[in-house]
Amino acid sequence: MPPQREHFMHRRILILALISGLANGCAYVDPLIQDFNVVSVDQERQLGEQMAAQIEGEMAFSRDAAAQQRVQKVGQRLVASLNRRDFNYEFFVVQDKDPNAFTIPGGKIYVHTGLLQFADNESEIAGVIGHEIAHAYLRHPAKGISRQLGAQQLAGLLFKDTQGKLKTLALQMAGGGILTRYSRQDEYEADEIGYQILKSSGYKTDGLLRFLRKLQGLQTGSASPLAFLSTHPPTPDRIARLESMEMQRTSYLR
Ligand SMILES: [Zn+2]
Repeated sequence: MPPQREHFMHRRILILALISGLANGCAYVDPLIQDFNVVSVDQERQLGEQMAAQIEGEMAFSRDAAAQQRVQKVGQRLVASLNRRDFNYEFFVVQDKDPNAFTIPGGKIYVHTGLLQFADNESEIAGVIGHEIAHAYLRHPAKGISRQLGAQQLAGLLFKDTQGKLKTLALQMAGGGILTRYSRQDEYEADEIGYQILKSSGYKTDGLLRFLRKLQGLQTGSASPLAFLSTHPPTPDRIARLESMEMQRTSYLR
């Protein structure tokens, strides 16, 4: 293989690792320290720009204008209900049949075309996007990076905030799929805050619950579960928690 081609292939593998890592956006770890974050909002924004540029070069975006408009509309309606906005939230539609969505640092959210197809209605789409917005709002990507890179590697960033260092970090993240590791606690928090976001933006609050139930149905009915399911946090746990939120809400309304 000529060196140029080999380099390209190597890069391709890195990017595939990035994509599969991100696609497993909600795989979790159980950290010893939950709330460790050494990445500032400004650094997170810059990291997001770096990563978005990489993704733009490597992932196929949907050309379906209707799908894009749909996602923008839902996303912006949900964002409008946030009481704090650290980021300029942005939404992208990626051509991928796996029903999934993922968030990178700085409030950039990517929705797969497969998710739009798999969802039965707008409130299910809103349920998943609301969950992703909650990850961004709670700054889970920055916390995930902090936990995994550790204080030592990030120390340089704290004192010398240079573009070069951020670029290196973005590349490291891309290679290692660092963003993938949300904690179980992060997932529960994102479900809870996502639920509040749905409520305050006037969407039905059971969108994510219905979506997860359907995914769980697929898992039990299929010999080869979707990548989404094999790496996702325990869906039955999340379903049970969302069900109890929904029960409390309806009993409160009565
Ligand atoms: Zn999640």
